[in-house]
Amino acid sequence: MLFLEHRTVEETVLSVTSVGSNMSRWKCGIEGCDARFENVESAIIHQTTEHERHECKVCGTIVPEGYFAIRHAFDEHTRAEFVRAYDADSSAVRVREDVKEAVEEVADLNRVVKTLRDEGAL
Ligand SMILES: [Zn+2]
Ligand SMILES: [Zn+2]
Repeated sequence: MLFLEHRTVEETVLSVTSVGSNMSRWKCGIEGCDARFENVESAIIHQTTEHERHECKVCGTIVPEGYFAIRHAFDEHTRAEFVRAYDADSSAVRVREDVKEAVEEVADLNRVVKTLRDEGAL
């Protein structure tokens, strides 16, 4: 399963894509996936339920791919640990921190977690 090994947090970017004049939409940035969503909550739920789980390279914990993987990496570990474990550089760190911040600014994470628990996905 060579393909899976390439799907790491480095390639996991949940990005904001501007579509049209003043509408911003969310795009799943997991490798090979191009799904778009009206709201960030749907994007996170998609990443958690539709994608393979990610094994943290720092501590081995299995976390949902996408936003939750990014949150785990930066809440549980230092930047230095992330850079070392993922062979990342500072711009890779910045991109992920920006994504995390952008998500947390608009997402109703309590609702996301509740929805995922109800579906048995967390
Ligand atoms: Zn996706
Ligand atoms: Zn970890």
